[in-house]
Amino acid sequence: MDELNVLFVDDEIFTLHALKRLLKKETYGKYFAESGAEALKIIEATPIHIVVSDMKMPEMDGLTLLRIIKEKFPDIIRIVLSANTQTAQLLPCINTGEIFRFITKPLEKEKLKTAIHDAIELFLVRQDKVDLVRSLQQKNDELQESLTRQKEVEYKLQLLCMVDDLTGLYNRRQLITALQQAFFESKRYDTSLSCMMVDLDHFKIVNDTYGHDFGDAVLKEFSKRLKNVLRTADISFRYGGEEFFALLPQTELDEAEIVGQRILESCRSTPFASGDISHDVTVSIGAASYKSCLPHSPEELIKAADEMLYQAKNLGRDRVVKFI
Ligand code: GH3
Ligand code: MG
Ligand code: MG
Repeated sequence: MDELNVLFVDDEIFTLHALKRLLKKETYGKYFAESGAEALKIIEATPIHIVVSDMKMPEMDGLTLLRIIKEKFPDIIRIVLSANTQTAQLLPCINTGEIFRFITKPLEKEKLKTAIHDAIELFLVRQDKVDLVRSLQQKNDELQESLTRQKEVEYKLQLLCMVDDLTGLYNRRQLITALQQAFFESKRYDTSLSCMMVDLDHFKIVNDTYGHDFGDAVLKEFSKRLKNVLRTADISFRYGGEEFFALLPQTELDEAEIVGQRILESCRSTPFASGDISHDVTVSIGAASYKSCLPHSPEELIKAADEMLYQAKNLGRDRVVKFI
């Protein structure tokens, strides 16, 4: 708070002069108005903190003025200058909070100074309270903001633990969780469930011939093609290295085989390219379904698909072999 300003309102010019004289040494800013209307104009234009107003004034009496001020500028502390005869009328106004205090005329310097000082003190205490509430509010906002940020970070960390850095597919850990759930549902509700183990053919040669970076680009590109072929309800995982896994809920083995053929086709149809390098890459797929191998555990289902993949490799690669 830079400076406190007190506005004095009285239609009698000599009262205003008296006030000026009596309060000459007071350091707060002093403003003077000869009518309610003038007082309101000053308040609109200047930060006024305390108003000391005469009661009886033509056009707008003091109480009316203070009521308007209370409504429009509730922070301003209101004091009334009154004749002795009017005090009975003012007491209820103090009780209802309409005014802070009244000062009787004729003006006594000490009483006047004390009343204004008390008002200033009250204003400052209230201001402190407001500042305190505001700073608490701000602290609270900051806390909320940092909590939101923390949640975002946690979410990202969670996601990082779930997905594979290179391909953005779910990692092997997520496969175990997802497969357990799908396995349970399939067993419990007797629904079909298929899965596929997919492995890039001769990938070591790709790496050895074109370098690891190109190998990485192929893995990324293949992940995209795999996702494109699968339906939204299917989930793809990077099982490890150049091995991928697809989980196809509510899918019979024959349907899975068709999906597998599409994956083969997505590789055959377009060479894998990055920078100046372009190379044909094929994949081998082992497919198994819950009903075809009646596994006792999710791991057994993975094992069945893996065995079929092994067969696909042995049979010459670039094919799907299903567990029947
Ligand atoms: P096969 O057809 O029998 O599957 O032969 P292959 O060469 O694909 O299989 P192998 O298991 O012999 O080699 C897999 C290669 O995959 C070896 C390894 O360097 C490469 N590889 C595994 N992970 C990554 C990876 O993240 N990036 C790259 N660029 N290469 C990888
Ligand atoms: Mg391979
Ligand atoms: Mg492999």
